[in-house]
Amino acid sequence: MSMDKFKPYDINEIYLLPPSVNEFIPEDHLARVISEIVEQINTSEIESKYSKLGQKSYHPKLILKTLFYGYCIGVRSGRKIATKCETDTAFMYLATMQRPDFRTINDFRKDNIKQIESYFIDVLHIGKDLGLVKMGYIYIDGTKMRANASAKRTKDKEGYEKWLKRIEEDIEKIMKEVEQTDEQEDELYGENNRGDELPKELQKKEALREKIKHVLQEIKSEEKVNLTDKEAKNIKGKTGGIRPNYNCHAGVTSDGMIVSAHVSTKASDCGELIKTIEQSEANTEEQVTDAIADAGYGTYDNYEDLEQRGITAYIPSQKFAKEQKQKHKADKNPYDKDEFNYDKDTNEYICPEGKRLTYQGISMERTWKYRVYKGIDCVNCKMKHACTKGKSRKIRIEVREEIKQKVLDRLKTVKGKKIYNKRSYKIEPVFGHLKFNLKYQMFHLRGKEKVNGEFSLMCMAKNIFSIHKHKIELKRA
Ligand code: SF4
Repeated sequence: MSMDKFKPYDINEIYLLPPSVNEFIPEDHLARVISEIVEQINTSEIESKYSKLGQKSYHPKLILKTLFYGYCIGVRSGRKIATKCETDTAFMYLATMQRPDFRTINDFRKDNIKQIESYFIDVLHIGKDLGLVKMGYIYIDGTKMRANASAKRTKDKEGYEKWLKRIEEDIEKIMKEVEQTDEQEDELYGENNRGDELPKELQKKEALREKIKHVLQEIKSEEKVNLTDKEAKNIKGKTGGIRPNYNCHAGVTSDGMIVSAHVSTKASDCGELIKTIEQSEANTEEQVTDAIADAGYGTYDNYEDLEQRGITAYIPSQKFAKEQKQKHKADKNPYDKDEFNYDKDTNEYICPEGKRLTYQGISMERTWKYRVYKGIDCVNCKMKHACTKGKSRKIRIEVREEIKQKVLDRLKTVKGKKIYNKRSYKIEPVFGHLKFNLKYQMFHLRGKEKVNGEFSLMCMAKNIFSIHKHKIELKRA
């Protein structure tokens, strides 16, 4: 007797009762956490934008749920989300089997990005209520992410002028061709053609001409502007060279929650440290006690600001970080000013040969203020050739050197090294998750404000991920 190996399988089987999509979603599924979170968020500000008149709209919470879930799993395009709402049970569950089209999703994200950005704080507080968001230590870092704009469209004034000339020549050429075709058609078919249907290519070129003219009215000489995203600046990324990028900054707690997220259009990181600290404190309503960041943030301004705020810094200077890497190399200059020791009692420096450099006064360089010291016995020094080309060695010390040195000394201690090294598995995996697991290499939206909102959405999704993981762990405990 032959036994049937398979369970009954009939593609045409008709269910007696239509199954509920709810049944398809496992109890611990991320989609359920997202649904709960969005239900807790007050979306009345977005809701108030909708009119009671006309066609009924999809509920903002429904679209938000699909967007949050999409950003959690690396599905950001409106088209993909709309398709998933028809085919993917988790999306179908979140959209309650409704099927918003891609335009609805894209417009919702674009038009409500400011409000969506503010939900970053709501999600953070939901995490906090669950016992996440351990404040005190904040790990800060930045990463470059591509703007939604082609590098070829970044030009200076001269570049735009040349481009405009080329486009105008193209338009003239097309116009001539159109005239010729019209004349030929008039001869063939009479003069009944409407003649107002311009070729698509011409329409495109004319629109481009207007855009270029507009940029030319605003562009300053020496400036480079991208035609597609005017606010995106040419910034060098870690890979991929110089192109329109945004510089994204985040602050992360020791339990991996992102408490601050913002983008800047500046290539350097240093100006974003204090903003990250302030945002972290405002978003969590708690204080930052220790700030850990790489040498890109190590400036006198930052050292001084953190000291005034009573925050313990673990931030190397560029030079310190370089020296740490070259520690075992013999190419260190033994007469570098860092090899001179400060004598606080006499306000003098002692050189590697044991001779004194006395205080000469203050010198200013732009906004920088230096204390100047000069060697008093250099003429008789047998090592002078290796130390200075002048009659006597002079060193300039930034007036805030002591504050910086305190931070660098801290980084040399066992505790300091241990705390600083935690950076690599606290903040770096956050960007790794966004850029490599979810493949967020480029923004969807354009313009700094919208990009800022989208970056918050990405970081919010990462936090939702952590909340989901935490909830599962709580259940298992
Ligand atoms: S040149 Fe002056 S500062 Fe330099 S090692 Fe000699 S004594 Fe010291």
